[in-house]
Amino acid sequence: MANVLVFTELHDGHVKPVTLEILGKLAGQSADVAVIGDIAADQVAELAKYGAQNVHKIKGSNLDKYSPEGYSNALGDFIKSKSYDYVFAGATSMGKDLLPRLATKFDAGLASDVVNFTFDGGSFAGTRPLFAGKCLAKVEVTGPKPHFVSIRPNALGMTANPSAGAGAASDVAGNAGEIRAAIKEIIKAASTKVDLTEANIIVTGGRAMKNAENFKILNDMADVIGATVGASRAAVDSGFAPHAMQVGQTGKTVAPSLYIACGVSGAIQHLAGMRTSKVIVAINTDPDAPIFTKADYGIVGDLFTIVPILTEEFKKLLGK
Ligand SMILES: Cc1cc2nc3c(=O)[nH]c(=O)nc-3n(C[C@H](O)[C@H](O)[C@H](O)COP(=O)(O)OP(=O)(O)OC[C@H]3O[C@@H](n4cnc5c(N)ncnc54)[C@H](O)[C@@H]3O)c2cc1C
Repeated sequence: MANVLVFTELHDGHVKPVTLEILGKLAGQSADVAVIGDIAADQVAELAKYGAQNVHKIKGSNLDKYSPEGYSNALGDFIKSKSYDYVFAGATSMGKDLLPRLATKFDAGLASDVVNFTFDGGSFAGTRPLFAGKCLAKVEVTGPKPHFVSIRPNALGMTANPSAGAGAASDVAGNAGEIRAAIKEIIKAASTKVDLTEANIIVTGGRAMKNAENFKILNDMADVIGATVGASRAAVDSGFAPHAMQVGQTGKTVAPSLYIACGVSGAIQHLAGMRTSKVIVAINTDPDAPIFTKADYGIVGDLFTIVPILTEEFKKLLGK
C-alpha cells in the first residue's frame, strides 16, 4: 500500500473542504494529513471522519503566515522524513503555488488541477481539463516518488469515507529556512460569502447587468439560496464588479453544483472557468447565445424580470 499524504490549508481555523473531498475519494487507502501550524481538535476529528490516520502539525518560526519558501522547505523536509509516495493538495491559489515548488525540490512529477482520479494504492490515474476546458486529458505521474497531485476544489464532491481514520494528532518541528519574500498582512475582501472557488452555488452577472448597483438583484437571490456572486470579465472590465469576482480563463476556475449565468454570452474564455459546474442555468435575452449550448436549463428572457421572480420563488420553496 502506498504512503499517502494530503496537505490541508486552513481558512479561519477550518480545513478547506477540498481536503475532505480528497480524503473521501481516497477511501480504502491509508492517508495522513499535514497542516502548517495548529489545528483545533474538532477539525482533527473532521479529518479523521473522512479517513485521516495521522494529522501532523508542522510548527516553527516564520511559519505563521504562508510563504512559498517557508512552506515548501518545512513541508519538503517532512515529506522526505516520512518517505511519502503520493502527496495530494487542493489546486487552490496556495496549492498552485506550493506544489510545483515541492515537486521541483524532489525532481518529481506533478499532475495539476485534476478533476477526477482513480487510485488503487499503487497507481494513480487522473483526469484534468486542457485547452481552457475544451478537452479532458488522462494524466499519470511517472519517475521518482513522491508523486504530487493537485485537485480542483469542488470537482470530486464530498464522499463519506466508510472507515474513519485514527486521527492521531502530533506536532512536528518545521524549519522554514531562508525566506526572501514574506506576506506581511492579508487584507480580506468585505464579503463574508464563501470564496468563489469553493462555493457550492454561484450566481454570475455579465455585461448585461449594466452597472454595479444592479448586482443587488443577484446578491438578493444569492442570499436566499446561499450562493456566491461572480462576474464575467466584461462586467469586471466595465467596473461593475471587482476582479476577485471574475470567473474564467483570466479569473477564477469554479466547479459549483449549480451555476446561474445571468446576462453572460458564454464566450470561450468564460466557459473555461465554469464549464465543469455540475448544473448550469443560463438567463439570456438572445436564444442563440453560446451559453445555451452548455446550459442544462435555459431561460430566454430579460434577467431584470426573471431574477426577481426566481428569488421570490426560491424564498417560497425554501420557506425564507
Ligand atoms: C485573453 C482573454 C481572456 C479572457 N478572460 C476572460 C475571463 O476570465 N472571463 C470572462 O468572462 N471573459 C474573459 N474574456 C472575455 C470574453 O471573451 C468575453 O468578452 C466576455 O466573457 C463577455 O462577457 P459577457 O458575456 O458578460 O458580455 P457579452 O459577451 O457582451 O454578453 C452579454 C450577454 O447578455 C445578454 N443580455 C443583454 N441584455 C440582457 C438582459 N437584460 N437579460 C438577459 N440577458 C441579456 C446578451 O444577449 C449577451 O449574450 C477574455 C478574453 C480574452 C481575449
